[in-house]
Amino acid sequence: MMTLRGGQRLAVAGAAAIALLLPGCVAALPLGAAAVIGRNAVSSGDDNGDGQTRAARKQARAQERAQRREAKRQAELREKARKQGITIVSGPLPPPTGTEAPPAAPMSPLPPASGRGPGGATAPPGMQFLYGSGEAAALSAQAYRALSQQVRINVDYRQAGIGAISVALAPGSTLAAPRFAECGTKPLAIVLDIDETVLLNLGYEADEAERGLSYDDARWRRWEATGAAMVDAVPGAVKALTAARKAGVEVIFISNRTAGSALATARALEGAGLGKAVPGETLLLKQDGTDGSKDARRAQVTAKYCVVALVGDQLGDFSDLFSAPGMTPAARRAAASSVQIEPLWGAGWFVLPNPVYGTALKGGVADVFPANRRWTDPAAVPAAPVRAATGTPKE
Ligand SMILES: [Mg+2]
Repeated sequence: MMTLRGGQRLAVAGAAAIALLLPGCVAALPLGAAAVIGRNAVSSGDDNGDGQTRAARKQARAQERAQRREAKRQAELREKARKQGITIVSGPLPPPTGTEAPPAAPMSPLPPASGRGPGGATAPPGMQFLYGSGEAAALSAQAYRALSQQVRINVDYRQAGIGAISVALAPGSTLAAPRFAECGTKPLAIVLDIDETVLLNLGYEADEAERGLSYDDARWRRWEATGAAMVDAVPGAVKALTAARKAGVEVIFISNRTAGSALATARALEGAGLGKAVPGETLLLKQDGTDGSKDARRAQVTAKYCVVALVGDQLGDFSDLFSAPGMTPAARRAAASSVQIEPLWGAGWFVLPNPVYGTALKGGVADVFPANRRWTDPAAVPAAPVRAATGTPKE
């Protein structure tokens, strides 16, 4: 606001006094007249008594007008930002750069954009989910909590003389007619896969994401040998395995890591808090020259133990029958959901999420989506007919 100095105040007061004395004529224009008189008073000399020149006063008024315009502009921008959900923490907004100033960016620093790491590489959605999300952590904890309950039930049954419940398929089983290995008086055990079941291979996957690489067998071998410190335990695993061992249940790992990396793998497990694993006894890895099937190693375990739980991130961690020739994604899904197999999930068979790699990630649209569950958006624009080289539309 313009500030009136001594002489100006007197002029305004005088005009108001005249208005009071002559209400019939002057009272009709008191404020406007006062303003005019005031303005005249302001511009009546080069020096109003405090040393200000006319040019200086003109400049001051121009600054005041500019400040008012800027205050109005900032208020409008703040309101516009508020409507767009942008929080203005404090401080002035940037000066206008054109006819229409854009809403200001938030003044507080933003976290990195989703999927961007320190190096700027984008993490694939599967990695975002498995290694970075609370949802995956919750799923894993959920599975391991259920595993602990299964262990507890079997320990209680064994102590009560009821007998434990074996969940390892016996040789000759099929998915349609599963049979389970006998327990007898064998000691209890649980059998777990390692990668993305008890260990998260953070270092390897970060390298792959950062450099945009796909899986490479030689690089994986180097990872097995040197990456023991760059892993984390899957959420829930440490607590569940510690409780199982405390209850007298053996913990056995069957993994397709190579036997040559056994000591490094044992170090990785122990370093992650998952306890000791003894190569050849409680750590059964893939021998050179063999395929990745695990049934033979499971049979090796069931010869000595009553297996009360299997844990894995691939269906092959439960039975090689899921990987038999002809097992399409739809066939595997149907088998996993069948009346014979479905009751095992969460009740002896415990599966961990893995959207990053493995046997689950197969199939085109026709394999993944049932033909009777297709929908086309009514608003979708039909694809233009493809024209052959002759210009004749193809049917
Ligand atoms: Mg695995």
